[in-house]
Formats: sequence, C-alpha cells, structure tokens
Amino acid sequence: TQPLAERDPELFGAITAELGRQRDEIELIASENIVSAAVMEAQGSVLTNKYAEGYPGRRYYGGCQYVDVAENLAIDRAKQLFGCEYANVQPNSGSQANQGVFQALLQPGDTILGMDLASGGHLTHGAAPNQSGKWFNAVHYGVRRDDNRIDYDQIQALATEHNPKLIIAGGSAIPRQIDFAKFREIADSVGAYFMVDMAHIAGLIAAGEHPSPFPHAHVATTTTHKTLRGPRGGMIVTNDEAIAKKVNSAIFPGIQGGPLMHVIAGKAAAFGEALKPEFKAYQKQVRANAAALADQLIKGGLDIVTGGTDTHVMLVDLRPKGVTGNIADKALGRAHITTNKNGIPFDPEKPTVTSGLRLGTPAGTTRGFGEAEFRQIADLIIEVIDGLAANGEEGNADVEAAVRAKVADLCAKFPLYPNL
Ligand code: PLP
Repeated sequence: TQPLAERDPELFGAITAELGRQRDEIELIASENIVSAAVMEAQGSVLTNKYAEGYPGRRYYGGCQYVDVAENLAIDRAKQLFGCEYANVQPNSGSQANQGVFQALLQPGDTILGMDLASGGHLTHGAAPNQSGKWFNAVHYGVRRDDNRIDYDQIQALATEHNPKLIIAGGSAIPRQIDFAKFREIADSVGAYFMVDMAHIAGLIAAGEHPSPFPHAHVATTTTHKTLRGPRGGMIVTNDEAIAKKVNSAIFPGIQGGPLMHVIAGKAAAFGEALKPEFKAYQKQVRANAAALADQLIKGGLDIVTGGTDTHVMLVDLRPKGVTGNIADKALGRAHITTNKNGIPFDPEKPTVTSGLRLGTPAGTTRGFGEAEFRQIADLIIEVIDGLAANGEEGNADVEAAVRAKVADLCAKFPLYPNL
C-alpha cells in the first residue's frame, strides 16, 4: 500500500521528471501522443496480474471471465472503428503485429515487397537488420525523384519481376494519402496478399480523415499508440475468416505467450474514446494543424517534402538553411521542442546525420494546440534553426533560451494531466 514515491524514490523521480518533460516541452514526434487518464487507469489496473493465454472463451487458464469481457470490448470496438469482421488485439507492439501476419501468411525465404526505409517505410517491412529482412527475400519500392510521391509504376514493375507473396503499403514518414485500391490491383496482378501497415494513420482512418484500407487490403496491422491515441501496443484487423484464423494462431501460440491484459484494457478504453464524435473533430484538427505547421515552415524558408502534407506528419528538408537533422534536433531539444532527425528521400547525408526532421501534430493537438499555436511553433522552430545557420553546431544560446521561455508560456496555457 506504500506509494511508489516512498517505496522507490529513485524510480518515482524518473517518472515525475518525465511527467514534467511532457508538461513543459512541445512534443512534435509524429509517432507519439498523449493518452487520456482513463487509458492510463485501465493500463495501470489489476489486469496486469492475469495470465490469459488463448482467446476470449478459449483460454488455457482459469479465472479469465473478467479479462474476457475487457478483451471482447476491445475486439468489438476495433471492428466497429475499422469496419471489419475480425480483430486480434493481442500483439504487444506494431512490430509483433507485422510478425504475426508474416508468420500467418509466409514461409521463410518467401519474397515480400515493401517501401524502403529511406523513402519512409518501416524496419519491419524487410529492412536488412530486421528479422523481416533476414528471414524473407525483401524487395523495396520507393518514391519518385521528381515529386517524392509513391511510385506505383515501380511497384507494378517490381511485383511483376519478383512475384512477391506479400505486398506491404504504409510506413513511418509518408505525408500523403496512399492509394490502397491501386496497391490491391498490383497485388492481384501477381496473386500476392496485400497488407496495409496503418500504424501512423490508424486514427485518421478511424475518423474518416484518410481512406480506409478496406475493402482493398487482405489484412491490416497497426500500432495503437500513435494517432489512435491508445496504450503502446499493436493490433491486426481483417475481413477474411481464413486469414483471421491463421493470424490468431500466429500471435498465440506462434509468437507470443500470455497477452498483456492490462494493455488490452487500455486498448478497449482508447477504442471507446475513438468511437465518439470528439475523436473525429480531433483528427480533423490534427490534419489542419499539420497543414498550418507545414505552411508556416515554408514561409520561414524551409522546404517540406512533397510541398506539404495530407496527414499528421511532414518531412522538413533543412537544406535551404544549410543545417543537418542531427544538429537541428539537438538544438530544438535545447529549446524544449522535441523532434526527430529523419532522412529525406534520396538524402545525401548518412542516416546518423540526415537532411531532415520529421514533425507531427497528434500530441500537440491532444494538448489543445490549434492552427494559431502551430504557426507560432513553426516560427519558434525557424528562430532556432536560423540561430544554427548563423552560429554553426553550437547554435545561438540566447535565441534558444528565448525560445525555451516562449515554449514554457505556450505549454502553461495548455496544461497537461492537471490532476496528476
Ligand atoms: N509500423 C510502422 C509503420 C511504424 O511506424 C511503427 C513504429 O514506429 C511500427 C510498425 C512498429 O511499432 P512498434 O514500435 O510498436 O513495434
């Protein structure tokens, strides 16, 4: 019964400091969000104590009657959100959701076709250091050199040449809408399965702010913690009964043991929130904010890859200011604006350096920032980067301190977790 603060002050100190960081700094990492108190409460519940190998009504352990209720809520709400017949809410992460589909539909050595990392794909889509790149024959498509848009002609050509068993759409830095119907046409032309990894855009899709993978995809995977604004975890959805059965066996007992029932409860809570009308308004605002941020950054002299964004995410090309991503994300960090360096398509710099930054609006929008605040944030980013451009890697300490103070003012106007 002793609170953590007394029982383990060292750990409590780290958690409290992280809460302070989230409260006092502007979060622009595109894959992050801020969950509700209800999601945290579900995730911090006694459900963490329960072993529940198997699926609702078909468990290998006794005493599962209540966790069954929680998992069924998560499944039913997921099906409603994505207009699907089947949902597996047990993957512990987005990576494990993808592994689950691979285990369900592929054999080691099979050919997969996914987007390359440098164009915005994800490690789990066949990148060399990832299991997906080691165990499968991974072939990659990219974006066009002239406009940085997905190159569907190249996808068709690669599919015809390599005859993949699975084609993957989706990624971690794709600012524009994806044409799922076109992907399915290509998959059908070579008899491949078509999987959408909607991790980044699942919230937009659930709210009708991005076209749905269905009816085009055979199966879709997602994380639950990005635009979907749930706990850290993964999920697989499909309308195909045979695939659903294979996916269930692939997740358990294929690659996982006991599901994280407290996280599944958190997913149920988040999906319940996502079904409410407020969530639609939130996702609309996420996009409007991203458009405003991109527009203001362009006005400040930076380039945005593809000239803007249709989604929650954008890639900033820093080259017009002569600055690299690694230096820019450190300087912005000193000014309490959190971002990540990111390669841009055909980046001349190494992945540890990069010419770009990836920015996203989901977390700031949850906090309450609107377009006016995001335009202000763009101006602050420009100030810091101009300080770097003028002073080199060290940046301009006075400018960074002044920006830090403006960030503090902005954050104070939109308090985070006031009851914690
Ligand atoms: N798929 C995509 C498109 C992602 O962006 C990510 C997360 O970065 C993942 C999968 C992996 O998710 P996780 O970090 O939960 O393993």
